[in-house]
Amino acid sequence: MKTPLYTHVIKLPRKIVIGKGVRKNIPQYLKALELGKNVLIVTGPNLIKLYGKEIIQILEDGRFNVNYIVTKSTNINYLKTLMENVASEKYDVILGFGGGKSIDTAKYVATNISKPFVSVPTAVSHDGIASPFASIKGLERPISIKVEGPIAIIADTEIIVKAPYRLLAAGVGDLVAKFTAVLDWKLAHKLKNEYYGDYAASLALLSAKHVINYASIIRRGTEESVRIVIEALISSGIAMHIAGSSRPASGSEHLFSHALDIVAPKPALHGEQCGVGTIMMAYLHGKNWRKIKKTLREVGAPTTAKELGIDDYHIIKALTIAHKIRPERYTILGETGLTWKAAENLAKKTGVIS
Ligand SMILES: [Zn+2]
Repeated sequence: MKTPLYTHVIKLPRKIVIGKGVRKNIPQYLKALELGKNVLIVTGPNLIKLYGKEIIQILEDGRFNVNYIVTKSTNINYLKTLMENVASEKYDVILGFGGGKSIDTAKYVATNISKPFVSVPTAVSHDGIASPFASIKGLERPISIKVEGPIAIIADTEIIVKAPYRLLAAGVGDLVAKFTAVLDWKLAHKLKNEYYGDYAASLALLSAKHVINYASIIRRGTEESVRIVIEALISSGIAMHIAGSSRPASGSEHLFSHALDIVAPKPALHGEQCGVGTIMMAYLHGKNWRKIKKTLREVGAPTTAKELGIDDYHIIKALTIAHKIRPERYTILGETGLTWKAAENLAKKTGVIS
C-alpha cells in the first residue's frame, strides 16, 4: 500500500464522554476545554420541551451565558435564514443537542462562524454524531458536506436510552454499512488508484463487527445497548476523520439510500435504508450478505422493502440510479450501474422484494 504524498491533517475530538447522567457535568467538560463562556445551544422542538430547561439550568449554574435556537429543518435555505440571527461574535462554542437535524445544524452553524462544535446526541441513529460531515438538504446533490467535526462528544446514555428504539436499530444499519463501504473503497483503490487508508478502513470495519457480535445485547434496548452502538458510531466517525473523507463509512449502500431519498415518496430512516442497501451490496461483492441480514433481523431493523415502507418499484428504481448520485465515488455499481432487470434480480435474490 502506498502512503499518500499530500499533507494529511487529522483533527480529532479532544474529549469523548459516554455515561449515565453525564449531561450534569457539561460545564466542567467545557471549562476543561477552555472554549469560553458564551454557549449557543442548537436543538429541536421536542427536545427543547423535554430537556431545554434542565440543560440551560445546568450550564447557567456552571456560570455560562446561554442562548438557544430551535431548528426545524436542515434545508439549506432554512439554515441560511437561521444564520442571519446568529451573531458570530456573541458565541464561543456551539452545542448541538439532539438527533440528526440538531447535530447537523449545529455543525453547519459552527463551521459558518468558525467556532468549536460540541456534540451532545440524544439518539444514536447514524454516525454523524462524531463525523466531520453534515447532511444538508436542498443542495445540488443529496450527499453529506464537509464541516468542522466535534471538539467534544458528550453522550448521556440516560437520555439516549429514552429515544425510540427504532433509532437505535437504525444506528446498527448505519454501522453494518461499513462492511460494503470498505469493500467499495478497496475496489476504488485497486481499479481507480484512489488513496486507501488501511487504518481508517480497519477502524470502520471494527465498528461494524462490534454490532454484529453484540446484536443480542443491542436488542434489549438498555443503556448497555446504547453504549455499544454509540461507541461503534463514534469509532466510525473517527475513521472518517482519519481518512479525511467519508470513504470508510459510506459506499454503494449509502448511494442506494441517497437514491431512495430522491425517488421514494416516503423514505425510511437513513440507517434503515443503508442497512438494507448493505444486504444487497454485500451480495454483489460476493460476501456473506446473510450474516448482515441476520444481524439486522436480530436487532429489529428492516431487511425488506415492506419493512422499510417503500414499494418494490422504488427499491428497483433507486438501485438503477444509485451510481449517478456521486459519480466520482467508484463502487461495486461501476460507472454504468445496474439495469432494471439486474436490480430486480438483486433485490429478489436477497429477499428485499418478493
Ligand atoms: Zn450513514
